[in-house]
Amino acid sequence: MRKYKNQKEKKLAEIYCNGCGKKITIKNEMIQEGMFHGEILWGYFSNKDTEHHEFDLCEACYDRITADFVIPLTVKKEKELL
Ligand SMILES: [Zn+2]
Repeated sequence: MRKYKNQKEKKLAEIYCNGCGKKITIKNEMIQEGMFHGEILWGYFSNKDTEHHEFDLCEACYDRITADFVIPLTVKKEKELL
């Protein structure tokens, strides 16, 4: 869950993990730890037609949830982050 200093400019103030409620560390609007951000606008063929969903997960919650997948994640190692 994201809170903004200014809703129009989307200046990031705080982020909380939706899974456990932990506050994610932010410094000068830069996220200082591993986290996952998910966002989807559900389409006409779903049961959530036109609903926009958004959530954030800390790395521990991401690991816990993805560990329960029947088919494991696809993991590729990048040489560098851009
Ligand atoms: Zn968490």
